[in-house]
Amino acid sequence: MSSTVDKAWATLEQLTDPEIPVVTLRELGILRDVRETAEGIEVVITPTYSGCPAMGQIEDDVRASLERAGIAARVVTRLAPAWTTDWMSDEAKEKLREYGIAPPHHTPKDVSVVKFVRRAAPAEPVACPLCGSTHTVVTSQFGSTACKALYKCLHCQEPFDYFKPY
Ligand SMILES: [Zn+2]
Repeated sequence: MSSTVDKAWATLEQLTDPEIPVVTLRELGILRDVRETAEGIEVVITPTYSGCPAMGQIEDDVRASLERAGIAARVVTRLAPAWTTDWMSDEAKEKLREYGIAPPHHTPKDVSVVKFVRRAAPAEPVACPLCGSTHTVVTSQFGSTACKALYKCLHCQEPFDYFKPY
């Protein structure tokens, strides 16, 4: 591995999600690869899902931080395989919980291609990130962003976001 690739990884390692400042793009599984090609350094990112408004911001952040580090790189957006919340590291899920967002459940593989099933309320109970109670109800399928649903804990009465499995 070349030192430029190492340097690029080290730089991008610091980048966090524009909407969730406690988790990095790498932990979320958005930052896929940094490699050396014949044309120079290439950074591969996979958008969380089409229409996620944060994606343009993420691309800009990647480009800007590499420029600041003096690294000339190309940012490549790879759409296949599609991003899934299963790529999120366990560490990232723990950080989400600490941040007050219930992390996504694993997506059931057999329904992952059926869009309307994915958008339905999860069959598994969503645990409150604040008190851990599973006595929760969904109040809106869309929370602060389209990626999240709004829940309310019936135990501690606190509302919270659930990062929907995708
Ligand atoms: Zn609670």
